[in-house]
Amino acid sequence: MAYTATIEEENKEIARRYKDLLSVTYQTLSKEDKELIRKAFEVAVDAHKEQRRKTGEPYIYHPIAVANIVANEIGLGAVSIASALLHDVVEDSDDYTFEDIERLFGETVARIVNGLTKISRLSKDQEVSIQAENFRKMLLTLNDDVRVILIKIADRLHNMQTMDAMPQHKQLKISSETLYIYAPLAHRLGLYNIKTELEDLGLKYTEPEVYTDILTKIKESKEQQIKYIEEFSNYIKNTLNKEKLDYEIKGRSKSIYSIRKKMLNQAVTFEEVYDKFAIRIIYKSELSQEKFNAWKIYSIVTDSFNPNPKRLRDWISQPKSTGYESLHITVMGPKGRWVEVQIRSQRMDEIAEKGYAAHFKYKYGREKESGLESWLNKLKETLENPDINAVDFVEQFKLNLYAKEIYIFTPQGEIKSLPKGATPIDFAFAVHTDIGLTCRGAKVNGKLVSLNHTLNSGDQVEIITSKNQKPKVSWLDHVQTARAKSKIKTALKENQKIVADEGKEVLSRKLRHLKVPFNEKTINQLVNHFKLKTSHDLFYRFGNGAIDNQQLKNFVSQRSNAIYNFFRNTIKRSSKNIPENKNNELTDKFDLLVFGKEEEKLDYKLAQCCNPIPGDKVFGFITVSEGIKVHKQNCPNAISMQSQYAYRIMIAKWIDSSQREHKVTLKLTGIDHMGMVNDVTKVISTSMHVNIYNLNIKGGQDVFDGQITVGIKNNLQLKKLIEKLKKIDGIDKVTRLNN
Ligand code: MN
Repeated sequence: MAYTATIEEENKEIARRYKDLLSVTYQTLSKEDKELIRKAFEVAVDAHKEQRRKTGEPYIYHPIAVANIVANEIGLGAVSIASALLHDVVEDSDDYTFEDIERLFGETVARIVNGLTKISRLSKDQEVSIQAENFRKMLLTLNDDVRVILIKIADRLHNMQTMDAMPQHKQLKISSETLYIYAPLAHRLGLYNIKTELEDLGLKYTEPEVYTDILTKIKESKEQQIKYIEEFSNYIKNTLNKEKLDYEIKGRSKSIYSIRKKMLNQAVTFEEVYDKFAIRIIYKSELSQEKFNAWKIYSIVTDSFNPNPKRLRDWISQPKSTGYESLHITVMGPKGRWVEVQIRSQRMDEIAEKGYAAHFKYKYGREKESGLESWLNKLKETLENPDINAVDFVEQFKLNLYAKEIYIFTPQGEIKSLPKGATPIDFAFAVHTDIGLTCRGAKVNGKLVSLNHTLNSGDQVEIITSKNQKPKVSWLDHVQTARAKSKIKTALKENQKIVADEGKEVLSRKLRHLKVPFNEKTINQLVNHFKLKTSHDLFYRFGNGAIDNQQLKNFVSQRSNAIYNFFRNTIKRSSKNIPENKNNELTDKFDLLVFGKEEEKLDYKLAQCCNPIPGDKVFGFITVSEGIKVHKQNCPNAISMQSQYAYRIMIAKWIDSSQREHKVTLKLTGIDHMGMVNDVTKVISTSMHVNIYNLNIKGGQDVFDGQITVGIKNNLQLKKLIEKLKKIDGIDKVTRLNN
């Protein structure tokens, strides 16, 4: 529908929306607050006066709407509301600079607007390959002021709500990004409603048919649901009233996105998803009586309905670190159906819906440190670690966003919250970095366990340390927390540096012994010879003994040899003792992409949306018209591809082609004699790194006729093998079969 409105109508509408904004604020505004917001509104109106949205509407509708979400749904105060109104001003208008904003609104508003402008410049960048770096920068602003991210989430929500006028490719890109980072962030910041809306909208644009289908079905089952809740309420209403409780019973539908997720994860139909809605009992209570009342209601509910003992979640005694508090039980409800009942006070309900802001509103008078605060503090440490690369960072960060929590006790009875799946190593790092770095073993509930033991909620864990212990590469596979991961990585790097320094000494001594000058030229030759990237890699390998004396002697003799270059490809690098961690800088070069479990070489194209480079973690996606496209595993489009077209995903990885095995079948003929087979297998197994896959001897009488399939790495290796086989007594012919 075309947009038609006169200037007068528009101005009226702008004024109406502004008034509406002021009337819905969650926090009570003072006179100064209102003045600040008014001033921000006027500056925003002026700055955007020439601008229109894609729909044709005045641009100012957008900042007002964002401010509205900030004020009402997130529940932030005047500074944030003003900043939301101003969030696009510096970016879109030449008339206002940061200095102007600072002069007009003070330092705090200017800093927030500055943070928001930085993020918006990032997302306008066309180079999607640096997306991870962008996310990292965005997350870094969490460190400055969490309000920047909160307003950014509101901005994103409004953009998602008004995306119909956008071209489809932009809708897809923005939606994938939303599902990838904004929804998890909203979740972690306790913005339950916004997270749900972001996910549902994300689904609407990435999988429109699925979205519409589920939406229709939810609408159809709505009436049934209302009836069911009524029936449920009838059982307990009288007792609740008798206890003089002030309460409300409502139904809470599962979101479209989470129904979709459940359908996919459990391979069930819409009808088969059994917990499509929960029953919520919200009661009014004095703070001191909250917990008592929750259990009173619990008792009343379970008098009428049998609870499932395995599905009791007490988030009141131990709130989630997002600040979420509630008592969840699953009971056998009317009609013999399991139904979840969520019991929470009005205060808890507000925290669950609004997260951060409500948490602060109610924080006063409570002794407990806010879970979010301590989470932000932990995050800060990770953020301050400059060593970790952007992709890892975002991955780790996301890991921590959705993690389910468990609670672990220290020997002193203190509680630490950790993500589900955490190990004693995670726990050790959560207690103290030094304990993590020197942890050798652990006792769980008094029993000795291995360091990769998975902890359960309620475990009491004691860490055994040893001064001589050092973090191991394998630890990285056994930790869940970003904190432990980054600490281990840093320690490993430091350790590598020490080993490399030692290696440098070792190498210089050995070269002196072999009468080769220890200088830049030699080092470069060595680096090339062993196909390494840097001198650090070289020193490291001498430090840990991965390159032995014989290999160094080979180098020296070839160096003085004219055919040095010819042979340099035939020396096999020893890779023992080299950490196998794929993210490690010391790993092999990657120059070949292979697909599937069989590591086949196939034709492919690199996806433009994420531009993978050799060494990246990738997957193949079979497209309709362009063959296999290779995406990074953390490509923003990965979620929708993987969820929607799981069957079109191919395993893919970068490997070092010099380490790749090719299966070759050789045909051997000759005159048979005792021990011939033995000779053949001996030659093969003593040839460096040749694997036998298949051995098939036919022959009859005196004739030897065999076929062997071997795995070899390159042509030279094959030639050598054939030569050796030919030398076996009795072998007449060795030919390579083309299969
Ligand atoms: Mn905006």
